[in-house]
Amino acid sequence: MTNFYQLTDPEYEDDFASERLNPVWTESSYEIPGFICPNCGHMGFGHHLRIPLPAENALEEFKGTRHVPLDEWRQERPRWAKLLGVALDRVTPCASIGPPEGLLKGMPSADIIHPSADIWVRTRVMDKLKGIRCTGVEFAKAQFIYRPTDPESFCDGVHVDYDPIDLDNLPEYWELTVTGTASREGQDENTITVCDLCGRKKFAPLKNVKIDESRWDGSDFFNIETRHSFVIVTKRVCNALMELGASNYVCKPLP
Ligand SMILES: [Zn+2]
Repeated sequence: MTNFYQLTDPEYEDDFASERLNPVWTESSYEIPGFICPNCGHMGFGHHLRIPLPAENALEEFKGTRHVPLDEWRQERPRWAKLLGVALDRVTPCASIGPPEGLLKGMPSADIIHPSADIWVRTRVMDKLKGIRCTGVEFAKAQFIYRPTDPESFCDGVHVDYDPIDLDNLPEYWELTVTGTASREGQDENTITVCDLCGRKKFAPLKNVKIDESRWDGSDFFNIETRHSFVIVTKRVCNALMELGASNYVCKPLP
């Protein structure tokens, strides 16, 4: 019996503690447009395409977040795939493209941080995971954005006591891009489509997630149902992180 765990952030004393330990907010300068489905409305799946960006003059149509009608989206999809040099099925609505970006609110120092729904690790964590030849994960070097006069330096209007930013000594972080896949018991992704027009699926809530091992690709890192923010890992990964004494994460056992 293989044991699986959700790799996620620990329980914090309060929101301020969470902000101080995770003082980075993700941003996305370039995105594939989302689509507007006549049934479902504005759609974006929030995937990441960590690829080298095309030339500046080809980037204009990917700047910021925008949505186009579903027909137009389908028509443009093959062109976008070609332009970005990726397979057609990797072109998904509102996928962020290029390197991961994070707005610095304070000085990050934990081994693992959780900007928005993502997981970033310091170089020593990446080296450890590479050292045990972890499968199902890629590492994309994160880029920090620093705006000293940013008015959003507060959490809900309340001052957060972030650690002061030292730009000369910023640690390197790497975003985990999970490529492994599995399905959970009792869910057949082919039978739960709720929209015939755009193919949107509706999955059960992420509670009591039981992995169907016959539909697991065997990776150490994997997602279910393309939900990239729910990262599942094997015991090998948990052991490696524990051996390293990594900070600011938990491995929550799945049933
Ligand atoms: Zn739809």
